[in-house]
Amino acid sequence: MSLSDCVQYILDSAGKPAYVVLPVDVWSKIEASVAPLLKEQPSSPTLVQSSGPLQSFEEFMQCWDFRYAYDPAVHCPHCGVETSDWRNDPNSPFVLTNANIGGLLVFHCRRCGTTIRQKHFRDHVALEHSTPKA
Ligand SMILES: [Zn+2]
Repeated sequence: MSLSDCVQYILDSAGKPAYVVLPVDVWSKIEASVAPLLKEQPSSPTLVQSSGPLQSFEEFMQCWDFRYAYDPAVHCPHCGVETSDWRNDPNSPFVLTNANIGGLLVFHCRRCGTTIRQKHFRDHVALEHSTPKA
């Protein structure tokens, strides 16, 4: 039996493989060796960047009149994940969950679930975060 005979891919809406289906006899042979890896997967459902906050972010950027350039870097103070540009990071460690033209950007850390708030003022950015209860 070749690999393509026993492995079936389930595609997401973008046409990219999202899940793999295996015959149970194949699965029973590999289950014990794969199980430890599966336990490391986060149990929360995948959070997808929605278009609403992105639209608000675009409006926020169009209204930008602060005395410094926009910095797309995001850092999670709880688990330490960081990116130099959340918009272009292939790992998308952060999801923008809220944005408004008043200067508030709210990010969700995919790794630990922490909420990170960037409050943009005329001269500086204030950072706040709240970590989900264990
Ligand atoms: Zn985090």
